[in-house]
Amino acid sequence: MNMRFFLITTKIFLLSTFCFADSEAAPNKIQKIDLLIEGDHLVTMGKSRGIIQKGAVAIHQGVIVAVGKAKNIRELYEPEILLKGENRIVMPGLINGHSHAAMTLFRGIADDYPLFEWLNNYIFPAEVAFVDKEFVELGTELACWEMIRGGTTTFVDMYYFPEAISRVVDSCGLRALVSATVIDQASPDASDAQDSLLKGEAFIRKWKNKNQRIMPILGPHSNYTLDLKQLKQTRHLAEKLGVGLSIHMAESIFENQHAKTKYDDTSVKVFESIGFLKGPTIAAHMVWPSDEEIQILKKRNVGVIYNPTSNMKTGAGIAPIIKMLKAGIHVGIGTDGAASNNDLDMWEEMRLAALLQKIENMDPAVLPARKVLAMATIDGATAIGLSEKIGSIEAGKRADIIQISTEDVHYIPTFDIVSHLVYVSDEQDVTTVVVDGKILMKNGEILTIETKKLKERASTIAAKIKNKLRK
Ligand SMILES: [Zn+2]
Repeated sequence: MNMRFFLITTKIFLLSTFCFADSEAAPNKIQKIDLLIEGDHLVTMGKSRGIIQKGAVAIHQGVIVAVGKAKNIRELYEPEILLKGENRIVMPGLINGHSHAAMTLFRGIADDYPLFEWLNNYIFPAEVAFVDKEFVELGTELACWEMIRGGTTTFVDMYYFPEAISRVVDSCGLRALVSATVIDQASPDASDAQDSLLKGEAFIRKWKNKNQRIMPILGPHSNYTLDLKQLKQTRHLAEKLGVGLSIHMAESIFENQHAKTKYDDTSVKVFESIGFLKGPTIAAHMVWPSDEEIQILKKRNVGVIYNPTSNMKTGAGIAPIIKMLKAGIHVGIGTDGAASNNDLDMWEEMRLAALLQKIENMDPAVLPARKVLAMATIDGATAIGLSEKIGSIEAGKRADIIQISTEDVHYIPTFDIVSHLVYVSDEQDVTTVVVDGKILMKNGEILTIETKKLKERASTIAAKIKNKLRK
């Protein structure tokens, strides 16, 4: 064979392999599909972390069917809807690993208090006084609006009236792990731990496998609002129902002191001693694990969620993220609720996630932009047990994808797309949000929530809360 011809054909083969590296075998005739999303830069977050220039994603029936160069994809697929890619970055939707969505209605209710005082003197009493089903519906809808606006496509929630949360998530089109809160005190939807377990079980039985986008799990609050027997019961129930759980863990010095006084050990070790960690666990905060406890978290494959803003705001401390990453723990990023953040902005969270570790370690290289972007997408998906489904733009995965406009002046110049996404981009740059192949926001307009109606209803309830607080 002519050597030049051999080199050219090899090159063509390699190019086409690259273009469909993340896709199944390319079909040989034009295939009709639901949606095609294009972008000047397609940040896949796939295994190779490839960025395809002038890329496109073909989507059919909620699933990514092909990823590659736009010109190649267009030759093979005919979409019903085309989202053009000029001045757009395409990337996986952001994953908020820990939130209390409905607490948007408590945004700013009690700022600048230490965690324990904030919870016991302000939040728990306010919840008993104000939180009912309507509060949760409206608060969650506000949160979903804010998350869609900012490009978050999946969140892990923990709050009361999980069924109301699930209904809102269903109608607004997002994806969520909805934790039924288990807590041993009078809460808005239960009288004590046993009651919350019973209600949690009923919720999970009703919602498990009901909706592709909504996964019901249990949400035991913490080691200081549940005793060891109740924590064990919660894990057993989760096992029985075949679901995971999310929990606050090693969040504060107070929590470790509580564990020490009551059980003569530190928090994570106490959880390990009762077998609590032997099942899918999403642990939020994880500010105070010891080196020994980090090894336990690794052994038990606990997914850790880093909440830098909340940890800074409540003065909880700085999570040893670098140590946990070095130990091989899967770490995602979360905002926590709007009462301790005070927003649900994952762009800000990414930026702070990086900066806080750099200053803590006095080393700018410890948590680079690439890793932070992974933590908000594919690593977050792994931490919450959904990496087979979401977190990257790869054929076979569900289509949770966002487009970001690069038209704002803060994109001139752009030397490095990933650096820009982590250190510059903000919520206002997100133009398109697609979850499970469905468009939730287009040209910055949210399509699944009636904004005017939501604002009116939320303003009414917010005014009621403010009036009662004044009395
Ligand atoms: Zn929380």
